[in-house]
Amino acid sequence: MTHTQRYSSVARIALVGTLLFAAGCAISTQREVDMGGDFALQVNRQLRLVRDADVVSYVNVLGDSIAAIADDRGLDWTFHVVDSKEVNAFAAPGGYVWVNRGLIERTTNLAQLAGVLAHEIGHVTMRHSVQQMETSQRANVGLTLACILTNVCDYGITNTAVQLGGGALFAKFSRDDETEADRVAVQYVTRAGIDPRGIPDMFRILLKEREDRPTGMQGWFSTHPLEEARVRATEAEIARMPAASLKGLRMDSERFQQFRRRVIALPTVATR
Ligand SMILES: [Zn+2]
Repeated sequence: MTHTQRYSSVARIALVGTLLFAAGCAISTQREVDMGGDFALQVNRQLRLVRDADVVSYVNVLGDSIAAIADDRGLDWTFHVVDSKEVNAFAAPGGYVWVNRGLIERTTNLAQLAGVLAHEIGHVTMRHSVQQMETSQRANVGLTLACILTNVCDYGITNTAVQLGGGALFAKFSRDDETEADRVAVQYVTRAGIDPRGIPDMFRILLKEREDRPTGMQGWFSTHPLEEARVRATEAEIARMPAASLKGLRMDSERFQQFRRRVIALPTVATR
């Protein structure tokens, strides 16, 4: 079974009816939290999550430390580790973030994972999905929301196909949203005391992986053409920061390396 087939089979998502009448009007934070919570329940029924208490605790402590700086609405953040070897991370409105085990295993230091979490936090704090819902003009609101809420992010080495009504949808944020999430991620991690250079470093790791695994990557190429530009953009953003603000930031920690080794040592999911 190919990676794509395996991933799409676990990402078959049914939308709850309560989501369907939210489009076309301003969405309050409470509504956003309710929708995100409903969506998280649906997603978590479909995905295999890592339950290891130490792993779950670590990613939530790290995520909360960044979200506390990023979020001015007091959202109750939840960070999940998905037991999938694919490289992916995504977020839902209201403060829900998922990061795949496969992405964690490809990081080499704390700053890289912190950058990924900060980018996903940025999509939530900048309300990218919610704004798309508010301005949605599409006739098929249900399909649009499925696309938006499963905002399969830029870290996907393969696309996540969202199966809905027999059709496969590939969801994607706009280029502007991605740029903004990268930009705020640089600010968030820096203010959290973590080195923002982990963000372009992570992009480089993914670019290298793409070089090493060219077969089966065509679909990903077609929808994720921005990686090189994002490396340059985040490096430029970092270069604009006062040199003093980059002093004494953490790039790594022994605790992170313990966490990473524990993730790698988790039993491997049987092929479905
Ligand atoms: Zn993104």
